[in-house]
Amino acid sequence: MIHTEFWKKQPNRSRKWDFISRHVEVTPKARNADKKSRRSFSRRYFLTVNKGKVRVCKEMFTSTLDINDEWISTSIKKRTEGGAISPCKMGKNTPRHTFEIPAETKSSVVDHINAFPRVDPHYVRESSQKEHLPQELESVAHMYRLYLEHMAEKNPQVKVASERQYRDIFNTCFNIEIHRPKKDLCDECVRYDNTPPNLRTDELEAAHAEHVFNYKYAQKMKKDDTEEARKQTNTTLCVMCFDYEKLLNCPKADASIFYYTRKLGVCNFTLVDCGRRKPVCYVYDQTVARRGANEVASFLYHAHEERAKDGIVEIRSYSDNCPGQNKNRTVATELLFAASKFGVTIVHTYLEKGHTYNAADGIHGEIEKRSRGFQIYTPEEWIQRTEQTRRTKNPIKVIRVTQDMIFDFTALSSKLNLARNSENQPVPWTKLRQIKVDERNPGEIKYKISLADDKEMTIPINKVSPSYYFQFENKLSSRILFVWHKSSRS
Ligand SMILES: [Zn+2]
Repeated sequence: MIHTEFWKKQPNRSRKWDFISRHVEVTPKARNADKKSRRSFSRRYFLTVNKGKVRVCKEMFTSTLDINDEWISTSIKKRTEGGAISPCKMGKNTPRHTFEIPAETKSSVVDHINAFPRVDPHYVRESSQKEHLPQELESVAHMYRLYLEHMAEKNPQVKVASERQYRDIFNTCFNIEIHRPKKDLCDECVRYDNTPPNLRTDELEAAHAEHVFNYKYAQKMKKDDTEEARKQTNTTLCVMCFDYEKLLNCPKADASIFYYTRKLGVCNFTLVDCGRRKPVCYVYDQTVARRGANEVASFLYHAHEERAKDGIVEIRSYSDNCPGQNKNRTVATELLFAASKFGVTIVHTYLEKGHTYNAADGIHGEIEKRSRGFQIYTPEEWIQRTEQTRRTKNPIKVIRVTQDMIFDFTALSSKLNLARNSENQPVPWTKLRQIKVDERNPGEIKYKISLADDKEMTIPINKVSPSYYFQFENKLSSRILFVWHKSSRS
């Protein structure tokens, strides 16, 4: 298959070179590498298997593609000379000062830029032919600092380029940029856009039309709800969005040595009250808890309790569809449970896959922007950064997560038997678009598999477990949260 992709789907030589170049990484050699070797960079080979890149040995790489060494060296040479696709513009419209760069200096810059791994094009939304560098590189200025460090260590005899020269080479010799991931690359839309119009089947057209309808419908619901909540700040309605931020690294520091060290992950679960514009971040490091359904359910539980204390009786929430975090029985159980315990109605809507951008993502963007350029060594420093992200207006409230805040909602959900609906059909959990729980009907979860459709299905809790007294425990501290009973609101 890879062989076919290479020989049949890459129409010409330069596309084939580009294909090879995307699968070969050139990296600086380890510090103690053989000093006699003239090359200070080594090559690593990859093949794409099931949409993921797998590192392979050189023999495997060349035999799978059925190519000789010359293909590889030419490909790397082409990349070094000209970036991935676009021909090198060097010498055409190049500013004068780049001509003055000694060849050795120029190639030191080109090699350095080539030494960074490229982001797999699969994860880059744009259909452009640009190459993308990992987002840990914050800017070209940042790359230039790493370049100086690298040169001082590895090639002290070569005259280094100025930052301006480095930037010019970056801009003119490469068709490249630093990857800024947009929320949720949409596979559906990419597949549709990449299919030439004459090859789009009726099925594809229909599926895409439905997808577009769904995402617009869900986003409009969220927007309308937010506007409604903003208009009357004193109501008992709360509209909220929540999501995990990408894992934050500790340490996050500018010294290149940290690019190769193992990091402690810091987790941030953000929940935004859209109407009151109040963001709350639940922050902890990986030694405290995981980033799974129990954590999401536990933070929602905390938030629901807080909202109930403020007199909220109606909650409309939105999230993406991640089955390991948001879309599962564990979270549904929390919703059911919070509704009956706090006397609230909750309608939770899952935004259409690929189009789930929401207020929590906006907060994450602000935190990341604000922490750019700062050295962070401890989880506590991430908390401080997060707290200082907004100085005055609607500041971010940080909750330092402790283990006794995490409850085992998964264990509780297993006692509810949420597998079948009232018509005795299996509940299609992955297809759910909306979950509704109502304090007046504590014995059921309602769900929809189409937002536009009024049809609701019911998961009866009463039927499958007529009496539900559960001692609901915190796994770690064995703290009993309460005893849940249909008729009691503790
Ligand atoms: Zn899409």
